[in-house]
Amino acid sequence: MTRLAQTAGLTDIQQEILSTVRDFVDKEIIPVATGLEHRDEYPTEIVEGLKELGLFGLMIPEEYGGLGESLLTYALCVEEIARGWMSVSGIINTHFIVAYMLKQHGTQEQKDTFLPRMALGEVRGAFSMSEPALGSDVSAITSKGVRDGDEYVLDGQKMWLTNGGTANLVAVLCRSDEGHPEGTAPHKSMTAFLVEKEPGFGEVRPGLTIPGKIDKMGYKGVDTTELIMDGLRIPANRVLGGATGRGFYQMMDGVEVGRVNVAARGCGVAQRAFELGVSYAQQRQTFGKPIAQHQAIQFKLAEMATKVEAAHAMMVNAARKKDSGERNDLEAGMAKYLASEYCKEVVEDAFRIHGGYGFSKEYEIERLYREAPMLLIGEGTAEIQKMIIGRRLLEEYRLQG
Ligand SMILES: Cc1cc2nc3c(=O)[nH]c(=O)nc-3n(C[C@H](O)[C@H](O)[C@H](O)COP(=O)(O)OP(=O)(O)OC[C@H]3O[C@@H](n4cnc5c(N)ncnc54)[C@H](O)[C@@H]3O)c2cc1C
Repeated sequence: MTRLAQTAGLTDIQQEILSTVRDFVDKEIIPVATGLEHRDEYPTEIVEGLKELGLFGLMIPEEYGGLGESLLTYALCVEEIARGWMSVSGIINTHFIVAYMLKQHGTQEQKDTFLPRMALGEVRGAFSMSEPALGSDVSAITSKGVRDGDEYVLDGQKMWLTNGGTANLVAVLCRSDEGHPEGTAPHKSMTAFLVEKEPGFGEVRPGLTIPGKIDKMGYKGVDTTELIMDGLRIPANRVLGGATGRGFYQMMDGVEVGRVNVAARGCGVAQRAFELGVSYAQQRQTFGKPIAQHQAIQFKLAEMATKVEAAHAMMVNAARKKDSGERNDLEAGMAKYLASEYCKEVVEDAFRIHGGYGFSKEYEIERLYREAPMLLIGEGTAEIQKMIIGRRLLEEYRLQG
């Protein structure tokens, strides 16, 4: 598809990167995605291909061996990849958030240790805030990090780690009481710990267990896990940024770029659903003509394409805002909210256009139908986005006097 979701003002380098990624998606991802998804199989070859393309280091600065590209370039690549298979964009997403947090907040030693190997995809990141009893309400975290000499001892249970099994570096948000007396606001008494581990399941390091993969409705292939810390000992120099009490802000900064990423995934999945819908509508005949010639179906296609365009424009705007150095929480929240809702609606319309065949696992739209809902939840639900948007609007439009 060439007409929709164009982005004005890209540099030659950006265009070259995107065309390489699109080519890779068309040749290496789309033909195998549905088969791998149905088998819930990790896309090892695709991941190796992404490593070769340098995608694991796309936003990592050149001095650390990355490509030093912008959030916009990254988001547009993610959009392309999600068009092929949303799970593959999930494999990159938590890696990218952890690399971003290291770049923004890490000590020099932490950047030197991790970023060059992250750029190569040798170190792969996972991001852990959620717990069994909380997701939206991050301030309710109960996992704890307690100082013991030159180490911290971590205890607690985490939930929903995307790439929890395959990653070897996990940014884990815990409550840390050190220097923060009782009564300190929750967001000021949290610390992000950089936990290194072996990939795999079971006890992957003394005191750290990854029990197994959570069986999910969609978003298959990529592993999503729990993480159990029981007396896990972490050197004090693995506190992100070297000082406790800043974890909440560091993780929220990561989530903010993650939201642009989820918006981009919504755009990519919606584009693919549109491609499938518009193609099927011209092949299937009813009442003597292709269903695309019935006005009701044409209207559906018109609505779908308009949603694809609107979501893409908002996602690009949010990425460009961040790249310009400005605060983008309002734009990122709006883009994530709109793109994920529109994605669900476009996928549903493409599913309806397929009639009964949309219900068959032989058709790609069946997979998309199970994948779209994840985007309504990950990196903050629609309600949480609306809370962020509403709060920011009241700041911007505060009554004077
Ligand atoms: C496949 C998958 C992968 C994930 N990957 C990760 C990951 O890598 N790392 C990570 O840390 N987490 C991850 N998550 C967790 C995800 O971020 C949370 O599921 C999400 O933030 C919602 O939290 P919850 O599930 O606890 O829902 P809850 O917070 O319990 O919310 C339940 C419902 O109540 C609504 N709600 C909550 N509070 C309010 C309010 N104040 N006002 C109005 N409505 C409200 C919510 O919108 C939702 O509809 C993942 C989740 C999934 C499903």
